[in-house]
Amino acid sequence: MAPTTAPPPLSGKKRRIGVMTSGGDAPGMNGAVRAVVRMTLHYGCEAFAIYEGYDGLVKGGDMIKQMGWEDVRGFLSEGGTLIGTARCMEFMERAGRLQAAKNMIVKGIDALVICGGDGSLTGADKFRAEWPGLLKELVENGDLTEEKVEPFKYLNIVGLVGSIDNDLSMTDATIGCYSSLARICEAVDSVDTTATSHQRAFVIEVMGRHCGWLALMAGVSTGADFIFIPEIPPPDNWEEDMCKIIKKHRDLGKRKTIVIVAEGAHDRNLKKITPQHVKTLLSEKAKLDTRITTLGHVQRGGTPCAYDRMLATLQGVEAVKAVLEATPETPSPVICMIENKIVRRPLLEAVAQTKEVATAIHAKDFDRAMLLRDAEFKEYWQAYQITTAADQPELMLPPEKRMRIGIIHVGAPAGGMNAATRAAVAYCLARGHTPIALHNGFPGLIRHHSDEPMGAVREISWLDAESWASKGGSEIGTNRGLPSEDLETVSLVFHKYNIQALFVVGGFEAFTAVSELRKGREHYKAFKIPMTILPATISNNVPGTEYSIGSDTCLNALIQYCDACRQSASASRRRVFVIETQGGESGYVATIAGLSIGALAVYTPEDGINLKMLDRDIDHLREVFVKDKGQNRAGKIILVNEKASKTYSVQIIADMIAEAGKGKFESRHGVPGHFQQGTTPSPMDRVRAVRFGVKSLQHLESFAGKSRDEIDDDPMSAVVIGIKGAKVLFSPMERVEKRETDWKLRRPKDEFWMSLKEIVDTLSGRPKLPPKE
Ligand code: ATP
Repeated sequence: MAPTTAPPPLSGKKRRIGVMTSGGDAPGMNGAVRAVVRMTLHYGCEAFAIYEGYDGLVKGGDMIKQMGWEDVRGFLSEGGTLIGTARCMEFMERAGRLQAAKNMIVKGIDALVICGGDGSLTGADKFRAEWPGLLKELVENGDLTEEKVEPFKYLNIVGLVGSIDNDLSMTDATIGCYSSLARICEAVDSVDTTATSHQRAFVIEVMGRHCGWLALMAGVSTGADFIFIPEIPPPDNWEEDMCKIIKKHRDLGKRKTIVIVAEGAHDRNLKKITPQHVKTLLSEKAKLDTRITTLGHVQRGGTPCAYDRMLATLQGVEAVKAVLEATPETPSPVICMIENKIVRRPLLEAVAQTKEVATAIHAKDFDRAMLLRDAEFKEYWQAYQITTAADQPELMLPPEKRMRIGIIHVGAPAGGMNAATRAAVAYCLARGHTPIALHNGFPGLIRHHSDEPMGAVREISWLDAESWASKGGSEIGTNRGLPSEDLETVSLVFHKYNIQALFVVGGFEAFTAVSELRKGREHYKAFKIPMTILPATISNNVPGTEYSIGSDTCLNALIQYCDACRQSASASRRRVFVIETQGGESGYVATIAGLSIGALAVYTPEDGINLKMLDRDIDHLREVFVKDKGQNRAGKIILVNEKASKTYSVQIIADMIAEAGKGKFESRHGVPGHFQQGTTPSPMDRVRAVRFGVKSLQHLESFAGKSRDEIDDDPMSAVVIGIKGAKVLFSPMERVEKRETDWKLRRPKDEFWMSLKEIVDTLSGRPKLPPKE
């Protein structure tokens, strides 16, 4: 995932790098500005903010300001853009760009990092293409001398995509899209409760003129009954179709109806599908009491979610590196995210491909429009379809391919467990499988056999699971207990209920449980069935994946807690909060939360805590408070993982800081504890739960009809699904157990996020400890 802070600037020249935000604002843009400014300074270069987008570049003067380290303090948690944005007509004309070029040279800036949508990036690329001509013209006009322009022959442009629509091709996520999705989901969840009370239907319009990402993801996250997106218009008879599906859901007992319409939705003839039209159909044909809610600009606003803060930060870091590594021949890059990996892509191609989507839609070539979107988008669309409509006879498998699939939760609850289960149930029912809930984990099964003859093993109906999309906790009950408590009984229960495949949702215990069942195959035939684990734990410590569902919900809860602590210090200002995070033996949560809130220091179990570190950090705090002239009236945060040290608890660290800071600063400690499990799961956890849930079930299904021995022989019959770098894949348990697992410390041997710690430190200005002798 991680860009590192390692390589130094390549040229000897002290570069001056400008950063701007342009086009529509998006939550997270400030985090990008902070990262660009601080990384620029870290590399010994000079940073400039260009205020009000291209307008500032064209006007010059005070609109282009040199930025110091302290100028971006507190930026990470602010929504919108603090350096302003604008739509600038002058920059669309060559004369405006000529003026912009002159202003840049006058300020000595030869590289620009632009955070904006495809329009802003198009403008940027045009600017770079014209740059030599603009310089020539400036000299010919007598505006600047030959000597003055000589050092500025090459303009470096790097794009960061800041856009709530997530409309740029070649990246899975743009800065702001998950915050916007969070706003939408909050709204839909709120509408949901009133819709259920009154048995109403709601038609909700969300943003997205050429891109249905927000509408699709909102549909997946909330379990909406029907969605309309521009890339895939509904079939010609959609009016009937929609009413039929919704009626079917009502007949099955659903009390509410949610339809999500993207702003740019249309039918196959490009006739706009308006919320009003959908409402009329639902009212008149389906006879539902229907209301329209248009979310509008609410979707743009608010504080950025954890993911956007992290994405913006990592992309900002990578952007500065890209500037410093560029040669005159390097095409301008745009910084993208593929699954969990930051990558550079050619800016021009990404913009061209994005524009092509709109062209394809216009030409009614919807297959091509979809082809031009990322693979992830397509998977989400398929997952939405298969997990939504209750009646899809065309998807049914022949009877011999249908399976009885056990679903079990293991370990502590994590956001998204229910969404994954709902998706699995809906998938099973769509394909003709029987979804069977194994309640309260393995101890539930073991007890069930001895003294609870009814209840712990039950088929789940469509209606049971239908409302679970947005629910936190575990609806089927979860337990940390392992099958090894009584493997014999577990096998008897599997046998008795003819469990032919197992879908396990949970954390390290789930991983351990499947490992035990896999090894138990030697003695128990009942375990010779396909098994898949969907990692779900706030600690994100399951081997075989870089991401567990629930971890994003946890990070959001944690940054909310930290933001509140910080704000509480705005009266006294000189306060340090030492906050304990969960995460077991893995410092992931502490580190990523640290990245997302701009923590001053993060202590992890991987590094431990010693006196030298504390001493260094206390010295650093002294310096920070000396430098802080009141630009940012908020407290500072230090995050400490619960297992980072047996000696130095958050209370002790806070006391040490308070003692050292006497009269200059004070300190408090905080333990958010179970608050970190969050309440409502974050949209990212929900959508990934659905996508991975569906993929897991497809994997289990691929074993239908195979003999137990064939299954036993196939290493892929016990797998963990996960994200590794830019890929989502299944990893065979046997290999992951042996090669990738640190059993003692209950975490993966290689933790992908370790390099991110350096970025947290760099961006907070934390000094490095001298190397050990
Ligand atoms: P959003 O996704 O929110 O619409 P955007 O970056 O696409 O963001 P635009 O309004 O299209 O927003 O572009 C922002 C600014 O970028 C414009 O006001 C203009 O100054 C500049 N710009 C856009 N397109 C071009 C172009 N083709 N040539 C030069 N400048 C452009």
